[in-house]
Amino acid sequence: MIALRKPKIVILGAGYGGLMTTVRLQKHLGVNEADIVLVNKNDYHYETTWLHEASAGTLHHDKVRYDIRDVIDRSKVDFIQSTVVEIKKDEKRVILESGEVEYDYLVIALGGEPETFGIKGLKEYAFGITNVNSSRLLREHMEYQFATYNMEEEKDDTRLTIVVGGAGFTGIEFLGELTNRVPELCHEYDVDQHKVKIICVEAAPTVLPGFDPELVKYAVSQLERKGVEFLIGTAIKECTPEGIFVAKGEDEPREIKAGTVVWAAGVRGNSVIEKSGFEAMRGRVKVQPDLRVPGFNDVFILGDSSLVINEEINRPYPPTAQIAMQQGEVCARNIAALVRNKQDLEEFKFDNKGTVCSLGEDDAIGVVFGKKITGASASFMKKVVDNRSLYMIGGAGLVLKKGKFNIF
Ligand code: FAD
Ligand code: NAD
Repeated sequence: MIALRKPKIVILGAGYGGLMTTVRLQKHLGVNEADIVLVNKNDYHYETTWLHEASAGTLHHDKVRYDIRDVIDRSKVDFIQSTVVEIKKDEKRVILESGEVEYDYLVIALGGEPETFGIKGLKEYAFGITNVNSSRLLREHMEYQFATYNMEEEKDDTRLTIVVGGAGFTGIEFLGELTNRVPELCHEYDVDQHKVKIICVEAAPTVLPGFDPELVKYAVSQLERKGVEFLIGTAIKECTPEGIFVAKGEDEPREIKAGTVVWAAGVRGNSVIEKSGFEAMRGRVKVQPDLRVPGFNDVFILGDSSLVINEEINRPYPPTAQIAMQQGEVCARNIAALVRNKQDLEEFKFDNKGTVCSLGEDDAIGVVFGKKITGASASFMKKVVDNRSLYMIGGAGLVLKKGKFNIF
């Protein structure tokens, strides 16, 4: 008797999209139906949506990550810890730093990378809120600036200036944490808080462009009250070891000296996408409604490296964890269908449950199921959302282990 070869499903990236696909596939498929391989750079998953906390230092980075092996069924999923270098899509194989892996079905869920728009010096001198390593580095760097300040005979106040580029959701959430962290740092390092400057530079004419104006006003006044200075309609033009150059409209760029510059002004798709020759816009591939890549029926792309159009406004949905997880669920059902030789695949439809933007430990703004919320109730909702992601991927056990319970 000839033994039939099982199809091999390879999932790249153990973030929201990739892990969701993996845990759903391990439920949908029996051991004899397919081989499932998950590849990720680290042996842990991190909650990207909590990185602003690890970056500011209000939450230890170990709290934002967990072991991938804790949530996968090891009898069904082989985990490879390695970095993806390139996808040879015409040969159905993936080049890893540690070797290579072949596939019948491929899921690319490698997340995004900071978009620096080619602005000089950003890659070299600005800090990002991108992963555990970058968050840890940023937190340590700010602590170093505070620790060094008091050691110097001639005090350099610009060491205590922190510039945040971009007042999108990442920038605003980071500022919320930072304004809570600064008083702690001042206390810890005997620094006069009046010496600390927090400046947010936003190119658009408003903070959180496109978000509800009443909620934006609330967020700005809360952050200003806690010491943030906003430079609106002002773009970062260059980053140097000493700080940044900014310009309002056509004005001549002026320098702001700062010991820390954080770049939180947008994401693009993972560079592996373009390196592998996929047709992409800022590293993101416009996928078919069934989440496959046009022309490649065996390749799915999810999350920050995918682009899905919101038909109502004919513009791409902003890349979020919410959308990545929902894509993961559909992708798993579609791959299970293909494994069972069903060709009629489900179309992805984003079910937007709302947006909540944290302003620190006990404050937030949001629109949930069409209702506006602020303050403690919004902050409570943010923690519910954070716990929900844990639940969706790892069940109640993971919520108990990593969840946020400081909600009352
Ligand atoms: P990710 O979750 O980023 O996962 C990508 C995975 O791929 C990671 O494990 C990474 O290590 C791995 N990887 C990357 N490159 C390689 C490689 N070459 N080889 C192997 N592995 C690799 N969205 C919301 O919906 N709600 C929020 O409240 C929210 N808050 C946010 C707060 C912050 C501070 C930030 C930065 C983002 C926030 N987002 C939020 C956006 C959200 O985090 C992203 O849209 C989401 O993480 C995308 O999921 P993903 O699966 O595409 O990628
Ligand atoms: P973003 O693209 O949403 O915002 C970036 C901001 O930077 C924009 O307001 C833009 O005008 C500004 N900017 C661009 N170039 C600039 C320059 N040269 N100088 C100054 N400002 C400049 O990016 P983000 O905030 O990193 O968010 C990325 C994605 O993650 C988005 O889809 C967002 O919705 C999502 N996210 C969601 C949440 C949440 O739901 N709570 C939190 C964080 C991020």
